[in-house]
Amino acid sequence: MEIILTHKIKLDPDRAQTEYFCKACGIARFAWNWGLSEWKKQYEAGLKPSGLSLKKEFNALKEKEFPWTYEVTKYACQQPFIYLQKAFVNFFNGTAQYPQFKKKGVHDSFYVGNDHFDIDGRKIGFPKLGRVKMREYLRFAGEIISATVSRTAGMRFASVSVRINHTPAVSESRAVAGVDLGVKNLATVSTGETVGGPKAYRKLQKKLAELQRSLSRKVRGSKNREKAKRKAARLHYRISCMRQDALHKLTAGLTENYSTAVIEDLNVRGMTGNEKLSKAVSDMGFYEFRRQLEYKMKMSGGKLIIADRWFPSTKKCSVCGNINAGITLSDRIFVCPSCGAEIDRDFNAALNLKALAA
Ligand SMILES: [Zn+2]
Repeated sequence: MEIILTHKIKLDPDRAQTEYFCKACGIARFAWNWGLSEWKKQYEAGLKPSGLSLKKEFNALKEKEFPWTYEVTKYACQQPFIYLQKAFVNFFNGTAQYPQFKKKGVHDSFYVGNDHFDIDGRKIGFPKLGRVKMREYLRFAGEIISATVSRTAGMRFASVSVRINHTPAVSESRAVAGVDLGVKNLATVSTGETVGGPKAYRKLQKKLAELQRSLSRKVRGSKNREKAKRKAARLHYRISCMRQDALHKLTAGLTENYSTAVIEDLNVRGMTGNEKLSKAVSDMGFYEFRRQLEYKMKMSGGKLIIADRWFPSTKKCSVCGNINAGITLSDRIFVCPSCGAEIDRDFNAALNLKALAA
């Protein structure tokens, strides 16, 4: 079985290499923004633009109008059109919001295909740039497909995607787990087990909230504000590493102990009606959870079932099947008006999810 895995590796670029990265990120943003604004214009004029048609138009202008794009890998100004196409497909099928313009300091990344970089030990090389030091060796052995170079909290990373051939072990376990991702706990499993977010994580989040408050009191454009901003970005990064770690532990545990997992399908659009829950869920990293569980189950020969997005996992009584439409977000206990069952809200949802596998 073929499977694609990504390893995000911290880079140690020198000054010239950092400059190259900045330039390539800027060109990637420019191409995306150019494409998006052309898309809007053409769409309003009654035309039917596509990522491919815009890429052709861009390339026809490139030599005369945007000669500076030649200073970095050609992928920097080509891949954005493929992403733009995908973004519009997702928008039209209802899984994403309308594509937005990219901003410096927020969207600092560019994609490179495998013919424009290579990895040799702890070095990654790009054309017109030379070799950049990596903090780790690439974790996966297989066919290298692509890399995305990005910037977080002032640090540079390369996310390298590798296609590997994997033969899953025949799983002896037939156990099924329903898993409810929640606000109070990271996850509740249908065995009644709960997995909390790490405590240190909460402490750091409190600190981050404090930092952000003090940031808002500092004078715009001042040195102190810049300093506080950098500090907040670093803290944010530490929190995301911690969350990533907790999710890896959770998904590894689930894959080890169960051959089938059933989870909810939380979609972006459905969530926007409830900002608070949506923020909590995105903090917990639902998409990352799903991504990890998907590939780990695949690798271990297990199965991941995603419940239909309309499945009433929290409204249904796991004992008698009655639907209690009146349950609200603040109700921590599910009370069934039909059979009288009283059961922890998240546990009830996990049981309902588990039942879907039968
Ligand atoms: Zn009931």
